[in-house]
Amino acid sequence: MQRFDGRIAVVTGGGSGIGQATVVRLAAEGATVVAVDVEAAGLARTAELAAKEAAGLNEVTTTVGDVTDRDFAPSIVDAVVERHGRLDVLANVAGILRTGITHEASLDDWDRVLSVNLTGTYLCCRAAIPALLDSGGNIVNVSSTSGLAGHPWAAAYSASKGGVLALTRTIAVEYGQQGLRCNAVCPGSIDTPITQDFVFPEGVNTKLVRRMMALDRPRGPETVAAAIAFLASEDAAHVNGEHVRVDGATLS
Ligand code: NAD
Repeated sequence: MQRFDGRIAVVTGGGSGIGQATVVRLAAEGATVVAVDVEAAGLARTAELAAKEAAGLNEVTTTVGDVTDRDFAPSIVDAVVERHGRLDVLANVAGILRTGITHEASLDDWDRVLSVNLTGTYLCCRAAIPALLDSGGNIVNVSSTSGLAGHPWAAAYSASKGGVLALTRTIAVEYGQQGLRCNAVCPGSIDTPITQDFVFPEGVNTKLVRRMMALDRPRGPETVAAAIAFLASEDAAHVNGEHVRVDGATLS
């Protein structure tokens, strides 16, 4: 008996990094998983990986879509419930990063980051909550250590991730009495493609962001996937409205 036997999960951002590792982890623990991403090629790789590492246990399907599209999340939830009869877990992992000096950064970047990271997470929660209330399911949102402390040159990103934490706690207290849990993870120093999107503005003092990590080295996305799987599982039945840092302990 595995932790996610008979469970149905939707994972956004499932085509790369932490989302991909989460799809594989949940599938390996028995879940039927629907992986969602804007990148078709990434999703194809996820399906391959899941077939290799979680072969024969379950089903992993993929759907290309944009979490900022207002019609997308309702359509995915409807399709999942129609096909599988239920939805047990929503993992909101999709996210983007743009950097720049706060008062000079582009407003388009601000809008896009808030739109994907915060509004996209909200749209998926909003669409999934009725099905999760029916199943006694739960939500795991991906925030960031930047949502917990100042992070220079990432105002939109930090604001979006702080918003994700506030949304997480709100859902946790609003729906907890009805049996729906909502938690978050706060990754940091995880080796994935998004970290390459951190571009230092020209001429800034990069020492500002030289955070030291207590642990010896950055680690892979599977370390975050393990925390997401814990929060999504019955092992976390009494954990609600919480965030778990997976960052090797950042010393700022
Ligand atoms: P990643 O770039 O490998 O993965 C992000 C995924 O989200 C990509 O597959 C991308 O295509 C997808 N995506 C982007 N916009 C989308 C949209 N509009 N709709 C659907 N999918 C979309 O990076 P990652 O590190 O795996 O990031 C996953 C999450 O973890 C993000 O929310 C990120 O902010 C968060 N995070 C990562 C770190 C880290 O150190 N890597 C630290 C803190 C938080």
